[in-house]
Amino acid sequence: MPDIDATGGLTTAEASRLLTEHGPNRMPLPPATPWIVRLAAQMGHLFAFLFWCAAVLAFIAGMPQLGAAIIVVVVINGLFAFAQEERAQHAAEGLRRMLPRLAHVIRDGRLRDINADELVPGDVVVLAEGDRISADMSICGVTALSVDTSTLTGESVPEHPAVGETVFAGCFVLEGEARARVTATGADTRLAGIARLTAQEPSTLTPLRRELSRMSRLIAGLATAVGVCFFGLACLVGMPATDGFLFAVGVTVAVVPEGLLPTVTLSLAMGAQRMARRHALVRHLEAVQTLGSTTFICTDKTGTLTLNQMSVVQVWTAAGSVCIDGAGYAPVAAAIRGSPESRRALAPLAMASVSCSTGRVRLVDGMWTAHGDPMEAALDAFAQRVGVDTAMMAEPSVRFPFDPRRRRMSVVVDRRVFVKGAPEAIIPLCHNTSGSSAALAQLTGCGRRVLAVAGRDLEAGEGLPATAAEGEHGLELLGLIGLEDPPRDGVEAVLHTCRSAGIRVAMITGDHPHTAEAIARDVGLMTSGRALLGHELPTDLGALGELLDRDGVVVARVEPEVKLAIARALQQRGHVVAMTGDGVNDAPALREAAIGVAMGRSGTDVAREAADVVLLNDDFTTIVSAIEQGRSTFINIRRFLTYHLTDNVAELAPFLVWALSAGHFPLAIGVLQVLALDIGTDVLPALALGAEPPGPRTLQSPPVGGRLLNRSVLTRAFGVLGPVEAVIALAAFVATFAAVGWRPGLPFPVGSVVLSASGSAFAAIVFGQMANAYVCRSSRSPAWKQPVSTNPLLMVAVGVELLLLLVMLYVPPVANLLHHAGPTVVGGAVAVCAVPAVLVADALYKRLALRRK
Ligand code: ADP
Ligand code: MG
Repeated sequence: MPDIDATGGLTTAEASRLLTEHGPNRMPLPPATPWIVRLAAQMGHLFAFLFWCAAVLAFIAGMPQLGAAIIVVVVINGLFAFAQEERAQHAAEGLRRMLPRLAHVIRDGRLRDINADELVPGDVVVLAEGDRISADMSICGVTALSVDTSTLTGESVPEHPAVGETVFAGCFVLEGEARARVTATGADTRLAGIARLTAQEPSTLTPLRRELSRMSRLIAGLATAVGVCFFGLACLVGMPATDGFLFAVGVTVAVVPEGLLPTVTLSLAMGAQRMARRHALVRHLEAVQTLGSTTFICTDKTGTLTLNQMSVVQVWTAAGSVCIDGAGYAPVAAAIRGSPESRRALAPLAMASVSCSTGRVRLVDGMWTAHGDPMEAALDAFAQRVGVDTAMMAEPSVRFPFDPRRRRMSVVVDRRVFVKGAPEAIIPLCHNTSGSSAALAQLTGCGRRVLAVAGRDLEAGEGLPATAAEGEHGLELLGLIGLEDPPRDGVEAVLHTCRSAGIRVAMITGDHPHTAEAIARDVGLMTSGRALLGHELPTDLGALGELLDRDGVVVARVEPEVKLAIARALQQRGHVVAMTGDGVNDAPALREAAIGVAMGRSGTDVAREAADVVLLNDDFTTIVSAIEQGRSTFINIRRFLTYHLTDNVAELAPFLVWALSAGHFPLAIGVLQVLALDIGTDVLPALALGAEPPGPRTLQSPPVGGRLLNRSVLTRAFGVLGPVEAVIALAAFVATFAAVGWRPGLPFPVGSVVLSASGSAFAAIVFGQMANAYVCRSSRSPAWKQPVSTNPLLMVAVGVELLLLLVMLYVPPVANLLHHAGPTVVGGAVAVCAVPAVLVADALYKRLALRRK
């Protein structure tokens, strides 16, 4: 057993020795799926399966080159998808590391926050409400502890462990406080044991996954159906079966957008990384897309809209009102204004309020900073400002921690009960309340957060209270404390942005209605009307949704259950709700909301674990920039969907013409050329489109949402851009023939001119796609109206595309494999026309579409 110092903790030296002995307190990772299996999975999904079938059929039909080529395609495509998924995975892990888990331990006789990975057996840990328990530990001191063990036992009723009992890693502290000694860490914990027994958690299908699998099923079904239909068509027009088969395979392959799914994942990962750079951490990639479709934000007040930098500015006691000036958390007052008797009455109030607080101010690097709850630290600063030596104060013998439902807390120090909390929760318990309601109205009217503080002596023979209620009655009101918490910079502007982005914002706070109103007016969230009260809201979800479904609603004195009901009611009305929260009791509402937003700094572990997004800086403006990034990712996915689907039409058209002419009109584009387009030239521009930064309009239009593959994507790809590319490709093909004297009615030429003609058609599609890449950058304005410099990646990608085209046309082995040759002058000239044709057709379509709106 290690030596234990006076306060029961380890010393740093012992801890580091034990750390080398026991290893870090990390859950053993489940055995990772070997990379080879993950790679194989990339070659075994639905699209790949279609390809395998095609390859097998090709071999059976006596076309081994085609079969081999298809297999090569599946492998290359799988490798590429594998690389993209690995990158996305890597990015997701990087994000996870940005949020270390902390533990409060006693080391070298002092309470310190350390990374929970560094806990060792023997450490003494202080557990507080909302903490995630990070190792197995045995309780050595406890007040009103309540632990959620559902992660281990599945049991939802909280447990109340007593001294000597063990609490386990992975559980959460719902209430109360405890000191506990670590008994097992890392792989030795019960959680690790259970994780070893149970298989991996079944991954639930998120809306995006569902949407993607719906889309791939749709496309695969479509591809197969088109292939089969066209095979029938080919037989019907009297084509030989092998030709008909070649044709069916070509068509199937043409319709499948091979590189699509991994590009979606990668683009989500990139979106997540960009959000992280702006201090919003998503806990799973799909949240990026959901954020983009947010239509309603329910935000709390303290810390999100305000700075959570509290200071006591005005105090009321029965002797009168006093104003106090001071800088930040510095324990010296710049000025104290008030009558002499009212100033004399401050000390008892200050002492009582500090007895009731754990937050303290400390000098760190020459700066006075808050430790613990900023509001309680402000009380410490206040007490010192009025001359109370808070370092010398006695420790409470009993503590009933703050409960957001009772909205108060109490302690017993030297047989005296002290209670502090929301005025409505305290004043009714007091006997001397005259003048307090006028004072309260004045304080809250200025937007101040108000605390009431009261106390009483325990009567002779009265034992220490066992429950909060036993102590909290017959109180003497000591005074009211008004705290100031300035609004954050930029909130006003961001609220304005929300309005133009079609996002409604409501303030949901536990604070006093007048305080809430004052802050809401100050930041421009509410322009008229009054705050609603949590307990006066209708219980019927329909009525509740109707009441709240407008911009600028303020709901005050909200209890956690009401938050949950609000999220439900709004979502029933079709809203995508982002709900912020920080406390233990907020977890259900965070889970219920489409996007739960937890605070990285002030939030509890429970809230963070229930959330989809964690704001590393607790700032409201961060939510909105995350929404912007989410929208832009969503739009980017639609952009490269349009891009990818467009050339399917151009790839399909030659087969159609060939089949309809019963094989008389030569096939302009072969299967291998189609594959070269889909997994060769198309890939980089699609990726670059996925990296398009948010445009200036992103937050000026209504929320994006609905299906990824919507009508407008389909119309643009299949109805406008695709046909243009198809026509130019066929025109380039025919023009090459015409240049050597072919006219309709004459037999088609044979020999090398067919190779050149095919090369021209191929080049036309690639040129069309180059223009298409630029066209897809916006859904409303023509390509030439967008600044080229905002996406330099696209320029590089299109440059590489051109290079690839030249290689495919002019490097003999590649050109031979693809079965085409460099275009003739005429064919080339027509092919280049694909660029202006796509640009102009797109501009016309956009103008028409805008006018119709
Ligand atoms: P908010 O929505 O502003 O975060 P809370 O739910 O945290 O509001 O707090 C609601 C009310 O409870 C506060 O206005 C305050 O009066 C009281 N309160 C909050 N924290 C404490 C505390 N640590 N001790 C006593 N009272 C508190
Ligand atoms: Mg709060």
